[in-house]
Amino acid sequence: MAGVSSNMPKAHNWQIGREMAYPYEPAYPKRQFAFVFNINRCIACQSCTMACKSTWTFSKGQEHMWWANVETKPYGGYPQFWDVKTLELLEKANSGNQHWSGKPSADPKRPYGEFSGLTIFEAEKTLTPDSARVLGYLPADEEWNSPNIYEDNPVGKNGTRYQFDKTGVELPEHKTWFFYLARICNHCTYPGCLAACPRRAIYKRPEDGIVLIDQKECRGYRKCVEACPYKKTMYRGNTRVSEKCIACYPRIEGKDPASKGQPMQTRCMTACIGQIRLQGLVKMNRDGTWAEDRYHPLYYLVHVAKVALPLYPQFGTAPNGYYIPPRWVPRDYLRQMFGPGVDGAIERYTYPDRELLAVLQLFNRSERIVFRYEIKEGPKIYEATLRGRKITVYNDTVIAYGEDGREIFRTTVEEPLHVRPAKHANSI
Ligand code: SF4
Ligand code: SF4
Repeated sequence: MAGVSSNMPKAHNWQIGREMAYPYEPAYPKRQFAFVFNINRCIACQSCTMACKSTWTFSKGQEHMWWANVETKPYGGYPQFWDVKTLELLEKANSGNQHWSGKPSADPKRPYGEFSGLTIFEAEKTLTPDSARVLGYLPADEEWNSPNIYEDNPVGKNGTRYQFDKTGVELPEHKTWFFYLARICNHCTYPGCLAACPRRAIYKRPEDGIVLIDQKECRGYRKCVEACPYKKTMYRGNTRVSEKCIACYPRIEGKDPASKGQPMQTRCMTACIGQIRLQGLVKMNRDGTWAEDRYHPLYYLVHVAKVALPLYPQFGTAPNGYYIPPRWVPRDYLRQMFGPGVDGAIERYTYPDRELLAVLQLFNRSERIVFRYEIKEGPKIYEATLRGRKITVYNDTVIAYGEDGREIFRTTVEEPLHVRPAKHANSI
């Protein structure tokens, strides 16, 4: 590991496969708010964005705030170029000498191998003023102005914007490409925002790991805005305090009137038309790794099927948002964004086995949070050869259970077809 001289406490960060310096002693919640987004299915309809906006950030002073947003990669970003700027800072701090070693493996303490470079917590001394605890930057006001800038702008020939390449439109990699990256706060295991706050106004809830800013304690120093590498805390000028995604915690607590006391997914998750989102609460071990929970859908997708990967794990915050990477995008780009697990994840998603195909049907079929699934085997319905590999599809039934152990819903791999009676042909 690159020289960590810090006297800070150490914590094991399984996403980077090593001990890491963090300003506070690690403390882990009993259960952690987490989610998986399947990028392959996002259509950038922005229903998620608007569901959040109309619920939490519709007031005066919040005009520029989009706690949930969807940006077009590689050019788009909210705030503009947030990831490129943080990656550049890290690269400078590491003198360009950061890399992943080892191979993705079955070891839950280092499933993606080990990241050798300094994280944003370990690099702080090299670049920021003395008052800063975490490597970061404060975006200029105008960088928050255009949340959907460069929408649908592709990278083309020789890596140039809008130079369409007329060849290379087949998998495994397209030569002209873009993709949609849906984002919310990652409710990180080691939050950069929390680490940087001089008022200790930011806290992580022990019951579900949701990261919140105490509005009474915050004095608007914006250290959290500077330190969050994902730029998911935002400053509100008319109240002079910072605000961020609250993970719709009344819904998670089952306090939404519609939830009948059972945990419910957030607004952005349940509004998702593309059914790209699955959110849940995962059990944590005392060392910050996920407790084995074989038939929990998020545990399965992240730790068994390994199709869902953290966003920029090299930042070091151990984000709790995971992504199924887009199949058509050049792998180098994806590896710097999701780490070394990319190739295996795309391989398994492209040729899914029976269990993965069934679990993928759970995405956004209910507002309730799924805590466990069960699969009942069905008949073979399809067989084909895909780029030289045989694939077989079975019409299995997947059954979703809630926190109370009761069935929430069941669905099949082959989606049911409903034919609308002719008398309604012109109506919705
Ligand atoms: S994504 Fe940013 S705001 Fe959210 S917990 Fe992580 S560091 Fe804090
Ligand atoms: S609602 Fe779903 S499909 Fe639409 S932009 Fe958001 S994540 Fe993508």
